[in-house]
Amino acid sequence: MNYQSLTPELIEQFRGICGADALMNADDPKAARYGRDQVSEKAYHHPPDLVVFPTTKEQVSQILELADRARIPVTPRGAGSGLSGGAVPACGGIVLSLERMNKILEIDPESLCAVVQPGVVTAALDRELEPYGLFFAGYPISEDFCHIGGNIAENAGGGRAVKYGVTGNYVTGLEIVIPGGEVLRLGGKRYKDVTGYDLISLIVGSEGTLAVVTEITLRLSPRPRHRRSLLTGFGRESEAIDTVSAIFRDTGIVPTSIEFMDAFCFTETAKSLRFDLPSEGSAAYMLYEVDGADPNDTERGIEKINDAVRGSSPMFSELLSDSRSEEVWKLRKRIPWMLKRITPHQSAEDISVPIGAIPGFVRRLRSIESDLGIHIPVFGHAGDGNLHAHPMAVGDEAEDRWAEIRKPVLTTLYEEALRLGGTISGEHGIGNKRREFMPLVSSPTELGLLKGIKGVFDPNAILNPAKIF
Ligand SMILES: Cc1cc2nc3c(=O)[nH]c(=O)nc-3n(C[C@H](O)[C@H](O)[C@H](O)COP(=O)(O)OP(=O)(O)OC[C@H]3O[C@@H](n4cnc5c(N)ncnc54)[C@H](O)[C@@H]3O)c2cc1C
Repeated sequence: MNYQSLTPELIEQFRGICGADALMNADDPKAARYGRDQVSEKAYHHPPDLVVFPTTKEQVSQILELADRARIPVTPRGAGSGLSGGAVPACGGIVLSLERMNKILEIDPESLCAVVQPGVVTAALDRELEPYGLFFAGYPISEDFCHIGGNIAENAGGGRAVKYGVTGNYVTGLEIVIPGGEVLRLGGKRYKDVTGYDLISLIVGSEGTLAVVTEITLRLSPRPRHRRSLLTGFGRESEAIDTVSAIFRDTGIVPTSIEFMDAFCFTETAKSLRFDLPSEGSAAYMLYEVDGADPNDTERGIEKINDAVRGSSPMFSELLSDSRSEEVWKLRKRIPWMLKRITPHQSAEDISVPIGAIPGFVRRLRSIESDLGIHIPVFGHAGDGNLHAHPMAVGDEAEDRWAEIRKPVLTTLYEEALRLGGTISGEHGIGNKRREFMPLVSSPTELGLLKGIKGVFDPNAILNPAKIF
C-alpha cells in the first residue's frame, strides 16, 4: 500500500480539527512512548509521525475523513498496555490516542448498563460501579491502567474469565467511526439483538483495524459480595494442572478464577515483593477463587475445591484471609513485570488450549525447554486454558541467541498448541507481533475472508495497517 507523508499543510489541517494542544509532533520527547506498547522486543516498536488526542467523536470522524483522503495511516491507541504491538504505528503516520475521551457517560442501574468513552480506565469504571452494587465482569489483569476501548479492541479476558467470560460477552452497544469518517451506532442497551449480522462481535477483537470505537455500552452484573480463595502448592506441575478438570468434574462449581504459577514465577515474584508466602519447595502453585452473593455458599464452594485438590496430593493448601488473598493476587499481577525485567529478549505468549489439553501442553513446553536449552517460565489462566509462556534468552549472548531461536521456538510452541486443538492467542491478539504466524492457524480461504472484511470497512487500508495479516 502506498501511503503519503505527513506534510506541514496536512499537520496544519489536523491542528484545525483538534486544536493545537491536541497534537504532539514526532520530535516531542514524549512521542517515543506512542511508538511502543508492552512488547519488549524493539523490532515491534515504530515511532509515530504525529500523535493526536481527540476529545469528541466529531473530531475522530474528521481525522479519519482527512487521513483517508490523504492516505495517511492511523493507529488507534488506548493505554498502550497491549502485548502484541497492536497500538504501535507500524507504518508510521498518526497515532490516534483516545486517552482524553475518558468519561463515564451514564450508569443505568435499571437496565444494568454503563455507557462509557473508550479512554476510561477499566478499574476506574469498577470503582464507580461499586456504590450501585454492580460490576463489569470482563476485566483483564491490567485493569489498573488499560482502557475499556483497548479491552474491546482486544476482546480482553482475565482472571475472572472462568466464570464470567471475556469482554465481548458484556458489550451490547458500540459507537464506531469507520475510515472515511462515517459514524455508526450498533446495538444499544438491549441485551438481545439478532437483527442482521452481528457487527458488534466483529468489531470486538478487531484490534483497531476496522473502526475506531468512540462509545461503548456495557452490560453490568450484580457485584459479588463475597469471595474466598485458596492457595495450593504441588510437587509436580502436572498435579497442579490436573486439578482444573477435577474441580469442574467433581465439585459442580464454576470457580471465578483458577490461576497457575510455576515455581520460578511464584518464588521470584514473592521475593521481589518481600512476601512471606508458603512455598515448601513446590514445583507449581494454584490460586483458586469463588465468589457469590451468599457467604455460606462461597465458604462451601471453596471447601469443596479444597477437597477436590486433595486428590492431587498438594504439598500445602491455605485458605486465604481477605488480606492474604489480596497479597497473593498482587503477586500474581506482578509476575509479568518481574519477567519483563529479566531481559528484553523474550516473548510474552498467551497460547490457548482446551482445558483437558493443558497438562500435555505444559509437559511439551518443558521438553522444548530442555531440548533447546532455553528458559520458559509459565503462568496464567489455567481455568480457561490460557497460559502465558515466556520463552527467553539470558546471559552474555542473549541478543544473538534470541535472534536465532525466536522463530523456531515460537513455531514449535504454536504447532504444539494447534496439535492439541488450541491456538496462538487467547487474549493478547495478533497485532504486528504474531502476524507472520497467521498462515499457521488460518487457511488461505479463511485469511481471504478476513482480508475481504478488512477491505469492506477500510478500502484504502489506512486503519492500523500491518496488523493481523
Ligand atoms: C501486566 C499486564 C497484564 C495483562 N493482563 C491481561 C489480561 O489478564 N487479559 C488480557 O486480555 N490482556 C492482558 N494484558 C494485555 C493488555 O492490557 C490488554 O490487551 C488491554 O485490553 C489493552 O488495552 P489498552 O487500552 O492498553 O490498549 P492498547 O494497547 O493501547 O491497544 C490495543 C489494541 O486496541 C486498539 N485500540 C485501542 N483503543 C481503541 C479504540 N478506541 N478503537 C479501536 N481500536 C482501539 C489498538 O489499535 C490496538 O490494536 C496485560 C498486559 C500487561 C502489561
